[in-house]
Amino acid sequence: MDLRYGEKYEAFRAEVRAFLEGWPLQGDEAKLPEQEQQALFRRRGIERGFVYRHVPVEYGGSGGEPDVILDQILQEEYAGSGAPGNLLTQGAAMLAPTLLEMGTEAQKQRFVPKALTGEEIWCQGYSEPGAGSDLASLSSRAELVGDEWVIHGHKIWTSGAEKSDWMFGLFRTEPDAAKHAGISYLLIDMKSPGIDVRPLREMTGGALFNEVFFDGVRTPAENVVGQRGQGWQVSRATLKHERNMIGNPNQTRHMFEELVALARKGDGNAGPGLSDPHVRQRLAELEGYLLSQEYTAKRILSATARGELEDVMLPMMMMKLHGTNLRRGLSDAGFDWIGADGLRELLDEEQVPYAAGTPGAWTARMMSAIAIAIAGGASNIQRNIIGERGLGLPRDLRAPKG
Ligand SMILES: Cc1cc2nc3c(=O)[nH]c(=O)nc-3n(C[C@H](O)[C@H](O)[C@H](O)COP(=O)(O)OP(=O)(O)OC[C@H]3O[C@@H](n4cnc5c(N)ncnc54)[C@H](O)[C@@H]3O)c2cc1C
Repeated sequence: MDLRYGEKYEAFRAEVRAFLEGWPLQGDEAKLPEQEQQALFRRRGIERGFVYRHVPVEYGGSGGEPDVILDQILQEEYAGSGAPGNLLTQGAAMLAPTLLEMGTEAQKQRFVPKALTGEEIWCQGYSEPGAGSDLASLSSRAELVGDEWVIHGHKIWTSGAEKSDWMFGLFRTEPDAAKHAGISYLLIDMKSPGIDVRPLREMTGGALFNEVFFDGVRTPAENVVGQRGQGWQVSRATLKHERNMIGNPNQTRHMFEELVALARKGDGNAGPGLSDPHVRQRLAELEGYLLSQEYTAKRILSATARGELEDVMLPMMMMKLHGTNLRRGLSDAGFDWIGADGLRELLDEEQVPYAAGTPGAWTARMMSAIAIAIAGGASNIQRNIIGERGLGLPRDLRAPKG
């Protein structure tokens, strides 16, 4: 099977590689704070047409023609390169495409460019203590008073809320409507009076997500995305992009390569090494899953490029489920092979997040693999939807009625 994309595309790949040789930055630029280096990368990448390639120029992108294969090459080349790895933030990867698809002209101009450059950081306010998998039962409410929404309620697991400038969130605006019909998608300034962000400590030792309380918080009436009461449909668009982000196999390939390097190191007496047949067998099994993830991604890509796959929702769910299972398998193997070193570093909260290549990095990956299988919709829920919509199985009897 020839998996190359053809001459024109491989020439594009060579240009991207040449651009990436400038990263990580050298000299004085290397001394800039991390956030400034990331901003520089985005600005230079947008100028060259290598970052946010097909977002129109008037909204801060490069304005390239839609071409899924060019996008794929960019993702492949960025993974594991020395370039800043946070291009797919919640603002750039989830809110911006949602606004481009469903926002008003004013919303696109006001919010998309700054979400892309990272000048404004966004968080996602969906989950609530009583509404996770059954998200439509959310009860945080917003009432239109004059030309403002007035918000009361409680969100949870809000990643990055502590450093965010804005939140895109779901709120019940029509209390008498049916469950899915009474929700609106609102944009809220996180500096508004009445917002209280409280960090939640994770098992990794870090505190990357929070509870967010709303007590009479106000946001302008025009900060509703899509129609009032139709936030459920808008949120589906955002979730599609979230799963796409999580299921991407490029990072998993990189993790597999690090795992092989870890096993090679073991032959120098740092744990079980490649000479151990159990290690080789485990690697072979994981590589089999990795290849099937990569080939499935390529098949989805070919079908999309040929215009044969309009609805990518179901394939993306499969990729998310398979990708998170694989990450779990890879990080469990790494954790098993570093042995007691991983536990020792785990106690050192000062070091979170751990540097790549350290034992602590494998421990943190093992823990975050558990979390990522829940984020964006737990694996059981993905299986239910794939079973019902993909295989035509009967509806889950326990699932809440809409
Ligand atoms: C790392 C991380 C980051 C997150 N970041 C955000 C964020 O930024 N913003 C945000 O809004 N949310 C965020 N979340 C929340 C995430 O979306 C929810 O955790 C997820 O939707 C599951 O909801 P829940 O935690 O309430 O679990 P529940 O819905 O209570 O589920 C608990 C368990 O029951 C199972 N279950 C529930 N219903 C069914 C069913 N019908 N059939 C079979 N099994 C079922 C689930 O699969 C799961 O195993 C994050 C979560 C994590 C782990």
